[in-house]
Amino acid sequence: MSDPTSLAIADLQRALKARELSALEIADAYLAAGERSTLNAYLDVQPELTRLQAREADAALAVSPTSSTSSASSASPLLGIPVAHKDIFVTRGWRSTAGSQMLAHYRSPFDAAVVERIASAGAVCLGKLNCDEFAMGSANENPVYGPVLNPWDRQRIAGGSSGGSAAAVAAGLAPFATGTDTGGSVRQPAAMCGVTGIKPTYGRVSRYGMIAFASSLDQAGVIARSAEDCALLLQVMAGFDPRDSTSLQLPHEDFTVACGRPVTEGATESAPLAGLRIGLPKEFFGEGLAVDVRQAVEQGVAALCALGAVAVGVSLPRTELSIPAYYVIAPAEASSNLSRFDGVRYGHRAKDYANLREMYMRTRAEGFGAEVKRRIIVGAYVLSHGYYDAYYVKAQQLRRLIADDFTAVFSEVDVIAGPVAPTTAWRIGEQTDDPVRNYLADIFTLPASLAGLPAMSVPCGFGAGRLPVGLQLIAPYLQEARLLATASALQRATGWHLERPPAGRDRS
Ligand code: GLN
Repeated sequence: MSDPTSLAIADLQRALKARELSALEIADAYLAAGERSTLNAYLDVQPELTRLQAREADAALAVSPTSSTSSASSASPLLGIPVAHKDIFVTRGWRSTAGSQMLAHYRSPFDAAVVERIASAGAVCLGKLNCDEFAMGSANENPVYGPVLNPWDRQRIAGGSSGGSAAAVAAGLAPFATGTDTGGSVRQPAAMCGVTGIKPTYGRVSRYGMIAFASSLDQAGVIARSAEDCALLLQVMAGFDPRDSTSLQLPHEDFTVACGRPVTEGATESAPLAGLRIGLPKEFFGEGLAVDVRQAVEQGVAALCALGAVAVGVSLPRTELSIPAYYVIAPAEASSNLSRFDGVRYGHRAKDYANLREMYMRTRAEGFGAEVKRRIIVGAYVLSHGYYDAYYVKAQQLRRLIADDFTAVFSEVDVIAGPVAPTTAWRIGEQTDDPVRNYLADIFTLPASLAGLPAMSVPCGFGAGRLPVGLQLIAPYLQEARLLATASALQRATGWHLERPPAGRDRS
């Protein structure tokens, strides 16, 4: 049997069913890889707890019927499959830090909906993954827990904010992982680490127990090695939850089946994307796009066209304005969400203070990092009397126009394609002192976030220095199935997603 850490989820499922591998053997292989790793992807591992869950899965598998063909049972579709969670999802029995000093010693009394759903599908938890503090960032240079290193080049960032998730999946430290995407945090690190990521439609996955950053944008997603593996985890995560007031009540849909289904009516075996109209927004291919990224993205688009898709030039005229709109709305919501961290109810409390006011001030001064403080200040400012109309209301108006631009484009095309990020992964430390440069790097992911649309990052080759590049695919509301089927057709025909970082790069 080959190394379990190199197998796709469907192969792991088959091997478990056929009793060729046990859940414990799979978990142990991943734990051993994690132990050897120096990427700083994990913030919490508890091998005994992982093994306990794996043994329980093995006990359940022992009483399930043996078969070498069928996949896992429908009641426990992920039985015995390991998974790791971004440390933004609260998890009982594990650390739940949100990458912050503020929650360094916080223990959640309950599981996030996503964690709960994945656990009841039978998955085995490998641990909690490093991320930018409160998911604010594009680099995962976490000031408290240290940067996540990119497995393709350890001098470089893994991307953010779900950098731990992307690095872990790319380096074979987890077969797939949860992430969250507020303005690009699933897609951007997936692109920079050469793995596949999906951010579903806003409301598709419950936000209950996801430590809040900007509630009108936050959405849980998946980082995996293929569109098919993404579909398997998304299938389990998605669903209505009355505990999240923005959760959508939708008819049942099977994303895993959708992956193999024809995307268009005219699809044939040799042209599975026949007639699929791919919109290429001219604003996504302008000056700011690095040449090597452009070449790889064009190569990805050409591969889609070789499968029968038709490229159509389109325009999303307010792409640039998504940056100021997002960087007003997200901090505004963050300033409100983060007011709960006051030293009374959650996490850290300052040791020395003379009165209540000083307790609040010192607690927040000590508990939050620089970027989080910056956002709280900006957020409080744009919401304050006299500035609310000038900034916050304007940003909301822009957000509506950006969503309208997508609606117009989707009357002409089925899927939008473009780059995920303007460059490949930059060097650790290179942009740390320049927050605005970091914000500008979000230009291609923010529009879909502001509009609440489903979007993916799919590996499409390499840029200079053999650094991975991601092709972004965006679909209309609730068309995750179309996205996954398109990405999976691309991955059946090409091998970019199968490329792994060179062995040894994950060793010191
Ligand atoms: N880079 C963006 C930010 O810093 C997006 C982060 C995210 O999606 N969580 O806000």
